[in-house]
Amino acid sequence: MVCNSKLPVQWKKVCVVGAGMAGLAAARELRREGHAVRVLEQGGDVGGQWRGGPRTGGLISPREAMGFTDFPFVPSSGGGRDPRRFPGHREVFHYLRDFCDAFGLMDAVRLNTRVLRVAVAPRRQGPAGGEPKWVVRSVRVGERDDTDVQEEVFDAVVVANGDYSQPSLPTIKGMEGWRRRQLHSHSYRLPEPFRGDVVVMVGCSDSGQDIALDLIGVSREVHLTAKSTEEATTPAMSKLLSKYANLHLHPQIEHLGEDGTVVFVDGSCVVADTVMYCTGYVYSFPFLETDGKVTVRDNRVGSLSFVGVPRKVPAPWFFEAQGKLVAQVLSGKRSLPPEEEMMRSVEEHYRAREAAGVPVKYTHELGSIEPLKYIEFGKKYCDFPRYEDWRREFVLSTIRNRDEDLETFRDQALDPSPLHATGAAMASLALN
Ligand SMILES: Cc1cc2nc3c(=O)[nH]c(=O)nc-3n(C[C@H](O)[C@H](O)[C@H](O)COP(=O)(O)OP(=O)(O)OC[C@H]3O[C@@H](n4cnc5c(N)ncnc54)[C@H](O)[C@@H]3O)c2cc1C
Repeated sequence: MVCNSKLPVQWKKVCVVGAGMAGLAAARELRREGHAVRVLEQGGDVGGQWRGGPRTGGLISPREAMGFTDFPFVPSSGGGRDPRRFPGHREVFHYLRDFCDAFGLMDAVRLNTRVLRVAVAPRRQGPAGGEPKWVVRSVRVGERDDTDVQEEVFDAVVVANGDYSQPSLPTIKGMEGWRRRQLHSHSYRLPEPFRGDVVVMVGCSDSGQDIALDLIGVSREVHLTAKSTEEATTPAMSKLLSKYANLHLHPQIEHLGEDGTVVFVDGSCVVADTVMYCTGYVYSFPFLETDGKVTVRDNRVGSLSFVGVPRKVPAPWFFEAQGKLVAQVLSGKRSLPPEEEMMRSVEEHYRAREAAGVPVKYTHELGSIEPLKYIEFGKKYCDFPRYEDWRREFVLSTIRNRDEDLETFRDQALDPSPLHATGAAMASLALN
């Protein structure tokens, strides 16, 4: 683990790739530590996956779980805001904009700028014998040609390009020749285009469940498929299946027929209009040239990892912790253990996950870690404020509610929480 260092604190010129939740969390921590930060973002605004157009569904986590440690995600009214406890996607975008404004981050962000290449600078661009520098090549998005390409040299690069942009597709017999609609959940926005359809959804995890709930009101039939129907039949899923006659659960697809037939491995079949792949994402760092120092094998990122790689973690809390540690290691306030020790620890972690039967592609999914462990870590290594008991209890109760009822968990526990009191206090401060 990183330890306090006696080295003099020094600032660095740091490039952050991506201005989503992770990039912004990192940028704020780097700035706080005194570094000169430049965030390069290919989109026309900050916010990453939350900046898109309208989408149905809402957050899985309540606001109480989704604020930065010192910038609570309090409800606010007016101006297109969504004060619900489990707001829609757009509200997270507004919150991230507020965060940028509160910490003056926008002047560090260069929008419409896509990073094309990140590589170690030739020695002549860095001090002899010193730490290697990084050359970052970027281009203005939307320019007619690529004459507006820039190369800049940085002391360090933080990669925060998100892990929800490169859809992962399964290989299914007959997929290539299937003439009807096929899409990945990444492209799903609203249920209306699926009105009256028979939809088969491949994958029954968070996105599969959320979208299925969206569709059962408009689609003729919704067929979920799961690797293990036994494991997928949670109490919440059983409740849904007995409530909706047009919702079905099947084992995996065996093949897709050219006539629209979808055949499942147990021999049953349906004729479908749409197959939707709710099969997650793969990590992708197309701009990195690191001579093999960074590799992605079956979705496991080796050697180095960056802000925002772990999945099923409390966000932005986790990104804030990562950003703080990166910022402090760069400034010399903390030092890393020797490389061999870190590599040994990584290998031990991989072995423990494999021994526990976790497939390699889930290496970075940390959903099974006890919330208390995170809280202890934040207190010990990041000086995070105490996680209040009411908040812990509340967040745990929303997880329990979701395990029991996927449809109503957002409606439960609607009593005002201390966060609402914080919101009211902030609003009255703004008024006075
Ligand atoms: C549908 C959905 C619902 C979720 N709900 C919850 C929830 O309820 N609770 C929770 O805790 N977590 C949730 N998460 C997980 C978590 O909040 C998100 O993963 C988080 O917002 C990801 O932030 P990010 O910055 O890592 O990635 P992103 O939001 O994807 O941001 C990455 C940014 O990098 C930019 N970028 C990429 N490549 C380049 C490049 N070459 N050059 C420049 N810029 C680049 C992109 O344009 C983007 O703006 C959800 C995730 C999804 C997909």
